[in-house]
Amino acid sequence: MTESHEPHQNDDTTPEASEPAHRSPATLAVTAGRPARGRGTPVNPPVVLSSTYVSAGVPAPGELLYTRNGTETWRPFEEALAVLERATLPGLVFGSGMAAIAAAFGLAEPGARVVMPRHAYQISLGLAAELSRRSGLRVTTVDIADTAAVLAAVRGTGTGADGADEDPAELLWVESPTNPMLEVADLPALVEGAHAAGARVVVDNTFATPLGQRPLEHGADVVVHSVTKYLAGHSDVVLGAALTSDPVLHERLATYRAMHGAIAGPWEVWLALRGLRTLALRVERSQENAAVLAARLAAHPDVVEVRHPSLPADPGHERASRLLDGYGSIIGLRPRGGAAAADALVDAVQLWVPATSLGGVESTLERRRRFPTESVTVPEDLLRLSVGVEHVEDLWTDLDAALRRGTTGS
Ligand SMILES: *Cc1c(COP(=O)(O)O)cnc(C)c1O
Repeated sequence: MTESHEPHQNDDTTPEASEPAHRSPATLAVTAGRPARGRGTPVNPPVVLSSTYVSAGVPAPGELLYTRNGTETWRPFEEALAVLERATLPGLVFGSGMAAIAAAFGLAEPGARVVMPRHAYQISLGLAAELSRRSGLRVTTVDIADTAAVLAAVRGTGTGADGADEDPAELLWVESPTNPMLEVADLPALVEGAHAAGARVVVDNTFATPLGQRPLEHGADVVVHSVTKYLAGHSDVVLGAALTSDPVLHERLATYRAMHGAIAGPWEVWLALRGLRTLALRVERSQENAAVLAARLAAHPDVVEVRHPSLPADPGHERASRLLDGYGSIIGLRPRGGAAAADALVDAVQLWVPATSLGGVESTLERRRRFPTESVTVPEDLLRLSVGVEHVEDLWTDLDAALRRGTTGS
């Protein structure tokens, strides 16, 4: 990629190819995926509503034919994601994070062994369990923060639930920080060790966002996202994406998407691109808010435990400081008084929204174990707080009042 100070010609140069790679991700989130610059051209890409395209004869490579295979309304967003994640091929947008995750699992052969974090997103674990019933996928869950145990499980030399004589894993699935326990993985060490053992590495980068970590730079094979969360950022679309710089994997993921029909609508993708423009602003503000709230919660008399990687005493602090750009805006909170007090707190807040999901501009919270499917190693009383971009003092006043009310019962 070379930088040009000339206005871009309105030819078939892709916006991605003209994106200077040395610029900050905060800048790239604003500039990537714009239409080629030319007098009278729009600043934003248009939304094209067409299921089919004029065509005849043998299609040329990349020719637009039918929207399930690809449409120009996906391309600016797919290019912007590739620029942010430092992928050499365009991203692949999917109809949801789970659709992208299913496509990534589709890269594993039937009967393959997969190593996953025990605190991965619960529906990713649910999908793996479903695939193990249907196609013999063998799943070993690990503490993703315990690098030696993860790599032992990948090599098949121990610690797997099924005993010490497991064959090597085909796939290492990584989430970092994990949902909802915020364990931080040593991603460079895991990628190196997994590749040495012959395993492919897929990273669910939803929590960190490409501003926080870029797994492909560490050698990961595939990155998946729930675009629903930070990338789109306004709790108004459900969308997913997968990224890779490997042409063979890219082709397989694109084929999976077209065959399974797990595609995104053009409006959703356009909204996600609009949301992406403010990614850095939203992430920076919500992270700052989260660090302030975490520190105050840690000193609060009605709090048993706070998890946030910004806290010096947090188990993920050292690694997050070394490997992540920013500590994220998810907080794990255990109020005094157990699950009942946690439920009371959810009922008592007025500004915070009781809701699942995360990564929107509004602050939300929920007790994770209200879902019977949540891992039993997640504490019953753990609230997951997704901190938004409101004024931090308003967030604090509401939370503090709810905590006091919850534990005094008034
Ligand atoms: C929400 C989420 C998903 C699933 O994405 P959807 O867009 O809801 O399908 C996957 N991974 C993580 C970490 C998530 O938070």
